[in-house]
Amino acid sequence: MNPTIVFVSQIQEDEVEAWLVTLKAALPDYDIVLFGDLAKSQYDEIDVAIVANPNPVELASLPNLKWVQSLWAGVERLLSDMPEAKFEIVRMTDPQLGLSMAEAVLAWTLYLHRDMPLYAKQQKTKMWLQHPLPLASERNVGLLGLGKLGQMAAMALKKQGFNVMGWSRTKAELEGIEIFSGPEGLDEMLVKTDILVVLLPLTAETNGLLNQDKLAKLPKDASLINFARGPIVEESALLDLLNKGYLKHAVLDVFATEPLPAGSPLWSDDKITVLPHISAPTNIKTASKIAADNIKRFRETGEVPDFIKRSRGY
Ligand code: NAP
Repeated sequence: MNPTIVFVSQIQEDEVEAWLVTLKAALPDYDIVLFGDLAKSQYDEIDVAIVANPNPVELASLPNLKWVQSLWAGVERLLSDMPEAKFEIVRMTDPQLGLSMAEAVLAWTLYLHRDMPLYAKQQKTKMWLQHPLPLASERNVGLLGLGKLGQMAAMALKKQGFNVMGWSRTKAELEGIEIFSGPEGLDEMLVKTDILVVLLPLTAETNGLLNQDKLAKLPKDASLINFARGPIVEESALLDLLNKGYLKHAVLDVFATEPLPAGSPLWSDDKITVLPHISAPTNIKTASKIAADNIKRFRETGEVPDFIKRSRGY
């Protein structure tokens, strides 16, 4: 009999179907069963679950769960929903996700570097007006977070000729990138940053990190790209600094509430570009293979893949 892996999720039915097809193809020697189709008598035998926005009550009913494979890269909701859970959380770390994020960071950095929001606005009033164009090497791009995604984004920006700086909790080493760490390091980097790119996980420490005080440390006319999680940036502070004409533009892919409510002032602010959480979507094929390889390796060696450290929240 094939071993059973349970799929616990609250995503839409058609999405579940698509995941089941690719996961089953990647794990032909396993029975992948939806939680709702699992018999109660099977709960004891489940030690691994694949999860996508799971119902915590369902996960809590599996007494011998050792670890869960998340299909998403960010797992802050699961951590906060189940702070006492005994199982480990393995998030999706897919090199393809890194490539997609690096592409998005490069694309939207170029959008800001080449003043595209301004020229789009000028076209509406048929205004023919050229603005000075700094060289990419004169544009300081600061990355918050130098993890799986931040490092690949840093390399793509560097290759394009930008002057790249990066900030992380521990001091990283990346060739050609000026590195900062710790609270003083953050302030040191912010004062030199023309385009700030947020690629941090949402944790107790990063929640509200970019408040009025921190955002005001950026030089006048700096811009912001948030591709990580909405609550890392204090929305009211950002709006205030944009509306005062201190900050130039913000590209936001993530929000405190998603989908962004129709009544949000962010939609209609011409200094804000709103994206619908699209900077680095999970690729169903490559992610299924990563999840499958993790599960197969665990079955062969008993080793749980690299998991979230609950004490630091990522
Ligand atoms: P990661 O590999 O865990 O890297 C996290 C980075 O943030 C590390 O460099 C870490 O520092 C740094 N960090 C964490 N807490 C910090 C703190 N308090 N102060 C300073 N630096 C801190 O994560 P990742 O794979 O790069 O992903 C980052 C986030 O992107 C995810 O958590 C997710 O929320 C988001 N994401 C968004 C999308 C989208 O479509 N918008 C897609 C995928 C992921 P150390 O290196 O010192 O540990």
